[in-house]
Amino acid sequence: MNSTVHEAEVLGNVEKGLLIGGQFRPATGGRTFPVENPATGTTLCEVADGTSRDALEALDAACAAQASWAATAPRERSEILRRAYDLLVARTEEIAQLITLEMGKSLAESRSEVVYGAEFFRWYSEEAVRIQGDFTVEPGGSGRIMLMRQPVGPSLLITPWNVPLAMPTRKIGPAIAAGCTMILKPAEQTPLTALLLASVLTEAGLPDGVLNVITTSEPEAVAAPLVHDGRLRKVSFTGSTEVGRKLIVSSADKVLRTSMELGGNAPFIVCADADVDAAVDGAMIAKMRNIGEACIAANRFYVHADVAEEFTEKLSARMGKMVVGRGDEDGAEVGPLIDAAQRDRVAELVDDAVRRGARVRTGGTAPPGPGYFYPPTVLTDVSPAARLRTEEIFGPVAAISTFADEQEVLRSANDTESGLVSYVYSRDIGRALRLAEGLETGMVGLNRGFVSNPAAPFGGMKQSGLGREGGRVGIEEFLEIKYVAVEVD
Ligand code: NAD
Repeated sequence: MNSTVHEAEVLGNVEKGLLIGGQFRPATGGRTFPVENPATGTTLCEVADGTSRDALEALDAACAAQASWAATAPRERSEILRRAYDLLVARTEEIAQLITLEMGKSLAESRSEVVYGAEFFRWYSEEAVRIQGDFTVEPGGSGRIMLMRQPVGPSLLITPWNVPLAMPTRKIGPAIAAGCTMILKPAEQTPLTALLLASVLTEAGLPDGVLNVITTSEPEAVAAPLVHDGRLRKVSFTGSTEVGRKLIVSSADKVLRTSMELGGNAPFIVCADADVDAAVDGAMIAKMRNIGEACIAANRFYVHADVAEEFTEKLSARMGKMVVGRGDEDGAEVGPLIDAAQRDRVAELVDDAVRRGARVRTGGTAPPGPGYFYPPTVLTDVSPAARLRTEEIFGPVAAISTFADEQEVLRSANDTESGLVSYVYSRDIGRALRLAEGLETGMVGLNRGFVSNPAAPFGGMKQSGLGREGGRVGIEEFLEIKYVAVEVD
Protein backbone atom coordinates (compact mmCIF):
# COMPACT_ATOMS: atom_id res chain seq x y z
CA MET A 1 0.00 0.00 0.00
CA ASN A 2 1.06 3.62 -0.50
CA SER A 3 2.60 5.51 2.35
CA THR A 4 1.35 9.09 2.46
CA VAL A 5 3.75 10.30 5.14
CA HIS A 6 6.74 12.37 4.05
CA GLU A 7 8.92 11.12 6.86
CA ALA A 8 12.12 13.10 6.28
CA GLU A 9 10.22 16.35 5.86
CA VAL A 10 8.05 15.83 8.94
CA LEU A 11 10.99 14.81 11.13
CA GLY A 12 13.11 17.64 9.74
CA ASN A 13 10.69 20.22 11.16
CA VAL A 14 11.10 19.00 14.75
CA GLU A 15 13.73 20.37 17.15
CA LYS A 16 15.42 17.39 18.82
CA GLY A 17 16.83 19.22 21.86
CA LEU A 18 15.58 20.17 25.30
CA LEU A 19 13.67 23.43 25.56
CA ILE A 20 15.01 25.42 28.51
CA GLY A 21 14.48 29.15 28.99
CA GLY A 22 13.38 29.61 25.38
CA GLN A 23 16.38 27.83 23.80
CA PHE A 24 16.48 24.35 22.31
CA ARG A 25 19.76 22.73 23.35
CA PRO A 26 21.46 19.34 23.75
CA ALA A 27 21.30 17.42 27.03
CA THR A 28 24.14 17.82 29.52
CA GLY A 29 26.83 15.39 28.37
CA GLY A 30 25.32 15.32 24.88
CA ARG A 31 23.49 12.00 25.31
CA THR A 32 20.56 11.13 23.04
CA PHE A 33 18.05 8.29 22.84
CA PRO A 34 16.25 6.76 19.85
CA VAL A 35 12.58 7.22 18.96
CA GLU A 36 11.09 4.18 17.29
CA ASN A 37 8.41 3.78 14.63
CA PRO A 38 6.11 1.07 16.07
CA ALA A 39 4.90 0.12 12.59
CA THR A 40 8.37 -0.99 11.53
CA GLY A 41 10.46 -1.29 14.68
CA THR A 42 13.05 1.03 13.11
CA THR A 43 14.56 4.20 14.59
CA LEU A 44 13.03 7.46 13.39
CA CYS A 45 15.63 9.77 14.93
CA GLU A 46 17.48 10.55 18.17
CA VAL A 47 16.40 13.17 20.70
CA ALA A 48 18.20 14.75 23.66
CA ASP A 49 18.33 12.50 26.72
CA GLY A 50 17.75 14.99 29.55
CA THR A 51 19.43 14.50 32.92
CA SER A 52 18.58 15.56 36.47
CA ARG A 53 20.85 18.58 35.99
CA ASP A 54 18.87 19.61 32.89
CA ALA A 55 15.66 19.20 34.86
CA LEU A 56 16.88 21.56 37.56
CA GLU A 57 17.96 24.10 34.92
CA ALA A 58 14.46 23.87 33.48
CA LEU A 59 13.08 24.55 36.96
CA ASP A 60 15.43 27.57 37.30
CA ALA A 61 14.01 28.89 34.01
CA ALA A 62 10.41 28.23 35.09
CA CYS A 63 10.97 29.96 38.43
CA ALA A 64 12.68 32.94 36.78
CA ALA A 65 9.72 33.40 34.43
CA GLN A 66 6.94 32.81 37.00
CA ALA A 67 6.45 36.30 38.49
CA SER A 68 6.33 38.22 35.21
CA TRP A 69 4.19 35.51 33.60
CA ALA A 70 1.68 35.62 36.46
CA ALA A 71 1.53 39.40 36.01
CA THR A 72 0.62 39.29 32.30
CA ALA A 73 -2.85 40.46 31.39
CA PRO A 74 -5.28 37.56 31.07
CA ARG A 75 -6.11 38.83 27.59
CA GLU A 76 -2.47 38.40 26.59
CA ARG A 77 -2.41 34.78 27.78
CA SER A 78 -5.74 34.21 26.05
CA GLU A 79 -4.39 35.52 22.75
CA ILE A 80 -1.29 33.31 22.91
CA LEU A 81 -3.54 30.29 23.33
CA ARG A 82 -5.77 31.39 20.52
CA ARG A 83 -2.80 31.88 18.17
CA ALA A 84 -1.45 28.46 19.16
CA TYR A 85 -4.88 26.96 18.41
CA ASP A 86 -4.87 28.54 14.94
CA LEU A 87 -1.31 27.33 14.26
CA LEU A 88 -2.11 23.76 15.35
CA VAL A 89 -5.19 23.66 13.15
CA ALA A 90 -3.28 25.12 10.20
CA ARG A 91 -0.58 22.44 10.63
CA THR A 92 -3.00 19.54 11.25
CA GLU A 93 -1.66 17.35 8.47
CA GLU A 94 2.00 17.69 9.44
CA ILE A 95 1.33 17.11 13.15
CA ALA A 96 -0.93 14.15 12.38
CA GLN A 97 1.84 12.60 10.33
CA LEU A 98 4.28 13.03 13.20
CA ILE A 99 1.85 11.42 15.68
CA THR A 100 1.37 8.48 13.33
CA LEU A 101 5.12 8.06 12.86
CA GLU A 102 5.98 7.85 16.55
CA MET A 103 2.77 6.46 18.06
CA GLY A 104 1.40 4.28 15.26
CA LYS A 105 -2.32 5.11 15.00
CA SER A 106 -3.94 5.75 11.62
CA LEU A 107 -3.62 9.17 10.03
CA ALA A 108 -7.38 9.65 10.35
CA GLU A 109 -7.14 9.08 14.09
CA SER A 110 -4.09 11.33 14.38
CA ARG A 111 -5.94 14.12 12.57
CA SER A 112 -8.81 13.79 15.06
CA GLU A 113 -6.32 14.00 17.88
CA VAL A 114 -4.91 17.25 16.50
CA VAL A 115 -8.40 18.76 16.32
CA TYR A 116 -9.26 17.51 19.82
CA GLY A 117 -5.89 18.56 21.26
CA ALA A 118 -6.02 22.03 19.69
CA GLU A 119 -9.52 22.52 21.10
CA PHE A 120 -8.09 22.68 24.65
CA PHE A 121 -6.19 25.79 23.61
CA ARG A 122 -9.33 27.40 22.15
CA TRP A 123 -11.40 26.48 25.21
CA TYR A 124 -8.78 27.80 27.68
CA SER A 125 -8.17 30.93 25.59
CA GLU A 126 -11.79 31.70 26.44
CA GLU A 127 -11.46 30.67 30.09
CA ALA A 128 -8.26 32.71 30.63
CA VAL A 129 -10.27 35.93 30.77
CA ARG A 130 -12.90 34.52 33.16
CA ILE A 131 -10.83 33.76 36.24
CA GLN A 132 -12.94 35.45 38.86
CA GLY A 133 -12.72 36.21 42.54
CA ASP A 134 -15.46 36.71 45.09
CA PHE A 135 -16.46 39.40 47.56
CA THR A 136 -18.93 38.76 50.35
CA VAL A 137 -20.16 40.64 53.42
CA GLU A 138 -19.31 38.67 56.56
CA PRO A 139 -22.37 37.13 58.21
CA GLY A 140 -21.75 39.39 61.26
CA GLY A 141 -21.57 42.42 58.99
CA SER A 142 -18.36 44.01 60.26
CA GLY A 143 -15.92 42.70 57.68
CA ARG A 144 -15.65 41.45 54.15
CA ILE A 145 -14.54 38.10 52.75
CA MET A 146 -12.49 38.55 49.60
CA LEU A 147 -11.34 35.60 47.49
CA MET A 148 -8.73 35.89 44.79
CA ARG A 149 -7.49 33.21 42.45
CA GLN A 150 -3.78 33.12 41.71
CA PRO A 151 -1.54 30.76 39.72
CA VAL A 152 -0.23 27.80 41.71
CA GLY A 153 3.26 28.38 40.31
CA PRO A 154 5.86 26.23 38.52
CA SER A 155 4.27 22.92 37.56
CA LEU A 156 5.65 19.60 36.36
CA LEU A 157 3.51 18.05 33.62
CA ILE A 158 4.15 14.37 32.87
CA THR A 159 2.31 12.81 29.92
CA PRO A 160 1.89 9.33 28.38
CA TRP A 161 2.56 8.13 24.83
CA ASN A 162 -0.95 7.11 23.77
CA VAL A 163 -2.28 10.61 23.06
CA PRO A 164 0.96 12.54 22.49
CA LEU A 165 -0.56 15.90 21.50
CA ALA A 166 -3.82 16.14 23.44
CA MET A 167 -2.49 14.94 26.80
CA PRO A 168 0.05 17.80 26.82
CA THR A 169 -2.45 20.41 25.54
CA ARG A 170 -5.02 19.32 28.15
CA LYS A 171 -2.49 20.37 30.82
CA ILE A 172 -0.66 23.24 29.08
CA GLY A 173 -3.91 25.02 28.08
CA PRO A 174 -5.19 25.56 31.64
CA ALA A 175 -1.67 26.16 33.01
CA ILE A 176 -1.15 29.00 30.51
CA ALA A 177 -4.62 30.39 31.19
CA ALA A 178 -3.96 30.34 34.95
CA GLY A 179 -0.51 31.96 34.63
CA CYS A 180 1.66 29.01 35.68
CA THR A 181 5.09 28.23 34.26
CA MET A 182 5.80 24.62 33.36
CA ILE A 183 8.21 21.80 32.77
CA LEU A 184 6.74 19.25 30.39
CA LYS A 185 8.17 15.73 30.48
CA PRO A 186 6.64 13.77 27.61
CA ALA A 187 6.74 9.98 27.36
CA GLU A 188 10.00 8.57 26.03
CA GLN A 189 8.13 6.76 23.22
CA THR A 190 6.60 9.99 21.83
CA PRO A 191 8.80 13.02 22.52
CA LEU A 192 8.61 14.45 18.98
CA THR A 193 4.99 15.64 19.05
CA ALA A 194 5.67 17.41 22.36
CA LEU A 195 8.72 19.15 20.89
CA LEU A 196 6.76 20.29 17.85
CA LEU A 197 4.00 21.55 20.15
CA ALA A 198 6.60 23.56 22.08
CA SER A 199 7.79 25.19 18.83
CA VAL A 200 4.20 26.08 17.97
CA LEU A 201 3.71 27.74 21.37
CA THR A 202 6.96 29.69 20.93
CA GLU A 203 5.75 30.85 17.53
CA ALA A 204 2.44 31.86 19.13
CA GLY A 205 4.38 34.22 21.42
CA LEU A 206 4.76 32.26 24.65
CA PRO A 207 7.54 34.04 26.58
CA ASP A 208 10.85 32.28 27.25
CA GLY A 209 10.88 30.00 30.27
CA VAL A 210 7.08 29.64 30.57
CA LEU A 211 7.15 26.20 28.95
CA ASN A 212 10.27 24.08 29.27
CA VAL A 213 10.48 20.59 27.80
CA ILE A 214 12.73 17.81 29.08
CA THR A 215 12.81 14.69 26.94
CA THR A 216 14.51 11.76 28.64
CA SER A 217 14.87 8.01 28.70
CA GLU A 218 15.11 8.16 32.52
CA PRO A 219 11.85 9.68 33.76
CA GLU A 220 12.44 8.91 37.42
CA ALA A 221 15.89 10.55 37.40
CA VAL A 222 14.37 13.71 35.93
CA ALA A 223 11.19 13.85 38.05
CA ALA A 224 12.76 13.08 41.44
CA PRO A 225 14.97 16.18 41.83
CA LEU A 226 12.07 18.38 40.74
CA VAL A 227 9.50 17.06 43.21
CA HIS A 228 11.99 17.25 46.06
CA ASP A 229 13.28 20.73 45.18
CA GLY A 230 10.83 22.90 47.10
CA ARG A 231 10.38 25.48 44.33
CA LEU A 232 8.06 23.27 42.30
CA ARG A 233 4.41 23.74 43.34
CA LYS A 234 2.47 21.14 41.43
CA VAL A 235 2.64 17.81 39.65
CA SER A 236 0.07 17.07 36.96
CA PHE A 237 0.43 13.49 35.80
CA THR A 238 -1.30 11.30 33.23
CA GLY A 239 -0.22 7.69 33.03
CA SER A 240 -0.41 4.41 34.86
CA THR A 241 -1.82 4.06 38.37
CA GLU A 242 1.44 2.45 39.44
CA VAL A 243 3.59 5.47 38.52
CA GLY A 244 0.90 7.90 39.73
CA ARG A 245 0.97 6.28 43.16
CA LYS A 246 4.77 6.68 43.32
CA LEU A 247 4.48 10.34 42.38
CA ILE A 248 1.82 10.96 45.04
CA VAL A 249 4.21 9.50 47.62
CA SER A 250 7.21 11.54 46.45
CA SER A 251 5.08 14.69 46.16
CA ALA A 252 4.24 14.35 49.85
CA ASP A 253 7.80 15.44 50.68
CA LYS A 254 7.07 19.08 49.77
CA VAL A 255 3.27 18.72 50.02
CA LEU A 256 2.87 19.43 46.31
CA ARG A 257 -0.52 19.78 44.76
CA THR A 258 -1.13 16.79 42.53
CA SER A 259 -3.53 16.04 39.69
CA MET A 260 -3.61 12.42 38.63
CA GLU A 261 -5.23 11.01 35.48
CA LEU A 262 -4.57 7.30 35.86
CA GLY A 263 -5.57 3.94 34.44
CA GLY A 264 -9.09 2.73 33.75
CA ASN A 265 -11.02 -0.52 33.48
CA ALA A 266 -14.21 0.71 31.84
CA PRO A 267 -17.36 -1.41 31.85
CA PHE A 268 -19.54 -1.24 28.73
CA ILE A 269 -23.09 -2.29 29.64
CA VAL A 270 -25.68 -3.22 27.04
CA CYS A 271 -29.15 -3.65 28.57
CA ALA A 272 -31.89 -5.86 27.12
CA ASP A 273 -33.82 -2.79 25.96
CA ALA A 274 -30.84 -1.21 24.19
CA ASP A 275 -30.76 -0.26 20.54
CA VAL A 276 -28.25 -2.98 19.66
CA ASP A 277 -27.02 -1.33 16.47
CA ALA A 278 -26.36 1.91 18.33
CA ALA A 279 -24.58 -0.08 21.05
CA VAL A 280 -22.34 -1.71 18.43
CA ASP A 281 -21.55 1.72 16.94
CA GLY A 282 -20.68 2.97 20.42
CA ALA A 283 -18.60 -0.11 21.16
CA MET A 284 -16.59 0.41 17.99
CA ILE A 285 -15.61 3.84 19.27
CA ALA A 286 -15.21 2.97 22.95
CA LYS A 287 -13.14 -0.10 22.13
CA MET A 288 -11.32 0.63 18.91
CA ARG A 289 -10.49 4.33 19.17
CA ASN A 290 -6.73 4.72 19.53
CA ILE A 291 -6.29 0.96 18.85
CA GLY A 292 -7.75 0.34 22.29
CA GLU A 293 -4.74 2.10 23.82
CA ALA A 294 -6.84 4.53 25.82
CA CYS A 295 -7.54 4.92 29.51
CA ILE A 296 -11.22 5.31 28.57
CA ALA A 297 -11.29 2.24 26.31
CA ALA A 298 -14.12 -0.17 27.06
CA ASN A 299 -12.36 -2.98 28.91
CA ARG A 300 -15.19 -5.19 30.15
CA PHE A 301 -18.34 -5.77 28.09
CA TYR A 302 -21.44 -6.84 30.03
CA VAL A 303 -24.28 -7.64 27.65
CA HIS A 304 -27.75 -8.75 28.73
CA ALA A 305 -28.27 -12.41 27.82
CA ASP A 306 -31.31 -11.55 25.64
CA VAL A 307 -29.24 -9.47 23.21
CA ALA A 308 -25.77 -10.97 23.76
CA GLU A 309 -25.64 -13.10 20.63
CA GLU A 310 -26.91 -10.34 18.33
CA PHE A 311 -24.47 -7.81 19.85
CA THR A 312 -21.53 -10.24 19.70
CA GLU A 313 -22.18 -11.23 16.11
CA LYS A 314 -22.50 -7.66 14.91
CA LEU A 315 -19.47 -6.44 16.86
CA SER A 316 -17.33 -9.39 15.72
CA ALA A 317 -18.30 -8.77 12.10
CA ARG A 318 -17.39 -5.08 12.33
CA MET A 319 -14.14 -5.61 14.23
CA GLY A 320 -13.14 -8.57 12.07
CA LYS A 321 -13.42 -6.40 8.93
CA MET A 322 -11.19 -3.61 10.17
CA VAL A 323 -8.05 -3.07 8.12
CA VAL A 324 -4.89 -3.62 10.14
CA GLY A 325 -1.83 -1.85 8.81
CA ARG A 326 0.71 0.90 9.15
CA GLY A 327 -1.04 4.06 10.23
CA ASP A 328 0.31 5.90 7.21
CA GLU A 329 -1.06 3.38 4.68
CA ASP A 330 -4.16 4.35 2.74
CA GLY A 331 -7.20 2.72 4.28
CA ALA A 332 -5.48 1.40 7.40
CA GLU A 333 -7.77 1.58 10.43
CA VAL A 334 -5.86 -0.31 13.12
CA GLY A 335 -2.23 0.66 13.53
CA PRO A 336 0.42 -1.17 15.58
CA LEU A 337 0.58 -1.19 19.36
CA ILE A 338 3.24 1.03 20.85
CA ASP A 339 5.99 -1.56 21.34
CA ALA A 340 6.81 -5.24 21.54
CA ALA A 341 6.16 -5.36 25.30
CA GLN A 342 2.64 -3.97 24.86
CA ARG A 343 1.84 -6.33 21.97
CA ASP A 344 3.13 -9.32 23.97
CA ARG A 345 1.10 -8.25 27.01
CA VAL A 346 -2.12 -8.07 24.99
CA ALA A 347 -1.39 -11.52 23.52
CA GLU A 348 -0.74 -12.87 27.03
CA LEU A 349 -4.05 -11.50 28.35
CA VAL A 350 -5.96 -13.09 25.48
CA ASP A 351 -4.16 -16.43 25.95
CA ASP A 352 -4.91 -16.34 29.68
CA ALA A 353 -8.64 -15.72 29.03
CA VAL A 354 -8.74 -18.55 26.48
CA ARG A 355 -7.04 -20.92 28.95
CA ARG A 356 -9.84 -20.05 31.37
CA GLY A 357 -12.55 -20.96 28.86
CA ALA A 358 -13.09 -17.87 26.67
CA ARG A 359 -14.08 -18.39 23.01
CA VAL A 360 -12.38 -16.37 20.28
CA ARG A 361 -15.01 -14.93 17.88
CA THR A 362 -12.54 -12.97 15.75
CA GLY A 363 -8.79 -12.20 15.86
CA GLY A 364 -6.74 -13.66 18.69
CA THR A 365 -3.39 -14.21 17.00
CA ALA A 366 -0.67 -11.64 16.43
CA PRO A 367 0.64 -11.58 12.86
CA PRO A 368 4.37 -12.09 12.29
CA GLY A 369 6.53 -8.91 12.31
CA PRO A 370 7.76 -6.39 11.49
CA GLY A 371 5.83 -3.92 13.62
CA TYR A 372 3.80 -4.54 16.76
CA PHE A 373 0.40 -5.35 15.30
CA TYR A 374 -2.43 -7.17 17.05
CA PRO A 375 -5.75 -7.84 15.31
CA PRO A 376 -9.15 -6.65 16.57
CA THR A 377 -10.28 -9.51 18.79
CA VAL A 378 -13.63 -10.45 20.32
CA LEU A 379 -13.85 -12.98 23.16
CA THR A 380 -17.02 -14.40 24.70
CA ASP A 381 -17.66 -16.56 27.76
CA VAL A 382 -14.98 -14.63 29.61
CA SER A 383 -14.46 -15.88 33.14
CA PRO A 384 -14.48 -13.32 35.98
CA ALA A 385 -11.11 -14.85 36.94
CA ALA A 386 -9.49 -13.90 33.61
CA ARG A 387 -6.71 -11.35 34.02
CA LEU A 388 -8.27 -9.02 31.45
CA ARG A 389 -11.26 -8.56 33.78
CA THR A 390 -9.06 -6.85 36.37
CA GLU A 391 -6.19 -5.50 34.27
CA GLU A 392 -6.34 -2.71 31.70
CA ILE A 393 -5.98 -4.45 28.30
CA PHE A 394 -4.75 -1.37 26.40
CA GLY A 395 -5.31 -3.06 23.06
CA PRO A 396 -8.02 -3.97 20.50
CA VAL A 397 -9.64 -6.76 22.50
CA ALA A 398 -13.33 -6.83 23.45
CA ALA A 399 -14.04 -9.33 26.23
CA ILE A 400 -17.76 -10.07 26.55
CA SER A 401 -19.71 -11.59 29.44
CA THR A 402 -23.47 -11.77 29.86
CA PHE A 403 -25.71 -10.67 32.72
CA ALA A 404 -29.29 -11.22 33.80
CA ASP A 405 -30.31 -8.25 35.96
CA GLU A 406 -29.48 -4.64 36.72
CA GLN A 407 -28.22 -5.14 40.29
CA GLU A 408 -25.94 -7.95 39.19
CA VAL A 409 -24.35 -5.90 36.41
CA LEU A 410 -23.88 -2.92 38.69
CA ARG A 411 -22.04 -5.10 41.20
CA SER A 412 -19.81 -6.58 38.47
CA ALA A 413 -19.11 -3.19 36.90
CA ASN A 414 -18.10 -1.66 40.24
CA ASP A 415 -16.01 -4.64 41.28
CA THR A 416 -12.71 -2.97 40.35
CA GLU A 417 -10.21 -0.55 41.85
CA SER A 418 -10.54 1.69 38.79
CA GLY A 419 -13.24 4.30 38.36
CA LEU A 420 -12.57 6.37 35.28
CA VAL A 421 -15.49 5.87 32.92
CA SER A 422 -18.38 3.54 32.18
CA TYR A 423 -20.73 3.18 29.23
CA VAL A 424 -24.42 2.24 29.37
CA TYR A 425 -26.77 1.47 26.50
CA SER A 426 -30.47 1.40 27.36
CA ARG A 427 -33.63 2.94 25.91
CA ASP A 428 -35.19 3.12 29.39
CA ILE A 429 -34.24 6.54 30.75
CA GLY A 430 -34.98 5.49 34.34
CA ARG A 431 -32.73 2.46 34.11
CA ALA A 432 -29.98 4.40 32.36
CA LEU A 433 -30.03 7.07 35.08
CA ARG A 434 -30.15 4.51 37.91
CA LEU A 435 -27.07 2.87 36.45
CA ALA A 436 -25.33 6.23 35.89
CA GLU A 437 -25.96 7.09 39.55
CA GLY A 438 -24.75 3.72 40.79
CA LEU A 439 -21.59 3.38 38.70
CA GLU A 440 -18.45 4.32 40.62
CA THR A 441 -16.76 6.21 37.79
CA GLY A 442 -15.93 9.87 37.23
CA MET A 443 -17.58 9.82 33.81
CA VAL A 444 -20.46 7.89 32.26
CA GLY A 445 -21.38 7.62 28.57
CA LEU A 446 -25.15 7.13 28.24
CA ASN A 447 -26.00 5.73 24.81
CA ARG A 448 -22.67 7.19 23.76
CA GLY A 449 -19.29 5.55 23.15
CA PHE A 450 -17.13 8.56 23.89
CA VAL A 451 -16.98 11.13 26.65
CA SER A 452 -13.88 13.21 25.83
CA ASN A 453 -14.74 16.86 25.41
CA PRO A 454 -12.54 19.89 26.19
CA ALA A 455 -15.57 21.63 27.72
CA ALA A 456 -16.22 18.80 30.21
CA PRO A 457 -14.35 17.70 33.34
CA PHE A 458 -12.39 14.54 32.55
CA GLY A 459 -11.20 12.38 35.43
CA GLY A 460 -11.72 9.39 37.64
CA MET A 461 -12.87 8.12 41.01
CA LYS A 462 -11.16 5.45 43.11
CA GLN A 463 -7.66 4.57 41.87
CA SER A 464 -8.22 6.23 38.49
CA GLY A 465 -7.08 9.55 39.81
CA LEU A 466 -7.35 12.85 41.62
CA GLY A 467 -8.77 16.03 40.15
CA ARG A 468 -10.24 16.80 36.75
CA GLU A 469 -8.93 18.11 33.45
CA GLY A 470 -10.91 20.12 30.93
CA GLY A 471 -13.95 22.30 31.37
CA ARG A 472 -14.26 25.06 33.91
CA VAL A 473 -12.85 22.94 36.75
CA GLY A 474 -9.69 22.08 34.76
CA ILE A 475 -8.34 25.57 35.34
CA GLU A 476 -8.96 25.37 39.10
CA GLU A 477 -6.28 22.68 39.26
CA PHE A 478 -3.72 25.39 38.42
CA LEU A 479 -5.12 28.08 40.72
CA GLU A 480 -4.78 28.77 44.43
CA ILE A 481 -7.67 30.41 46.23
CA LYS A 482 -6.45 33.15 48.51
CA TYR A 483 -8.82 34.46 51.16
CA VAL A 484 -8.32 38.04 52.29
CA ALA A 485 -10.20 39.16 55.42
CA VAL A 486 -11.01 42.85 55.07
CA GLU A 487 -11.82 45.05 58.06
CA VAL A 488 -14.48 47.64 57.31
CA ASP A 489 -15.19 50.21 60.05
P1 NAD B 1 3.43 5.22 32.49
O1 NAD B 1 2.89 5.52 33.83
O2 NAD B 1 4.44 4.16 32.33
O3 NAD B 1 4.13 6.53 31.87
C1 NAD B 1 3.47 7.78 31.86
C2 NAD B 1 4.50 8.88 31.98
O4 NAD B 1 5.16 8.76 33.24
C3 NAD B 1 5.60 8.84 30.93
O5 NAD B 1 5.94 10.17 30.60
C4 NAD B 1 6.76 8.17 31.66
O6 NAD B 1 8.01 8.54 31.15
C5 NAD B 1 6.58 8.75 33.05
N1 NAD B 1 7.17 7.96 34.12
C6 NAD B 1 7.36 6.62 34.19
N2 NAD B 1 7.93 6.30 35.38
C7 NAD B 1 8.09 7.45 36.07
C8 NAD B 1 8.60 7.77 37.36
N3 NAD B 1 9.06 6.84 38.17
N4 NAD B 1 8.58 9.07 37.75
C9 NAD B 1 8.12 10.03 36.94
N5 NAD B 1 7.62 9.80 35.70
C10 NAD B 1 7.60 8.52 35.28
O7 NAD B 1 2.17 5.00 31.59
P2 NAD B 1 2.13 4.64 30.04
O8 NAD B 1 2.30 3.20 29.88
O9 NAD B 1 3.02 5.56 29.27
O10 NAD B 1 0.63 5.10 29.68
C11 NAD B 1 -0.43 4.25 29.78
C12 NAD B 1 -1.20 4.52 31.05
O11 NAD B 1 -1.66 5.86 31.08
C13 NAD B 1 -2.43 3.66 31.13
O12 NAD B 1 -2.58 3.12 32.41
C14 NAD B 1 -3.55 4.65 30.84
O13 NAD B 1 -4.78 4.27 31.39
C15 NAD B 1 -3.03 5.90 31.43
N6 NAD B 1 -3.70 7.05 30.85
C16 NAD B 1 -4.60 7.72 31.62
C17 NAD B 1 -5.28 8.81 31.09
C18 NAD B 1 -6.29 9.56 31.91
O14 NAD B 1 -6.62 10.68 31.53
N7 NAD B 1 -6.80 9.02 33.01
C19 NAD B 1 -5.04 9.22 29.77
C20 NAD B 1 -4.11 8.50 29.01
C21 NAD B 1 -3.45 7.41 29.58
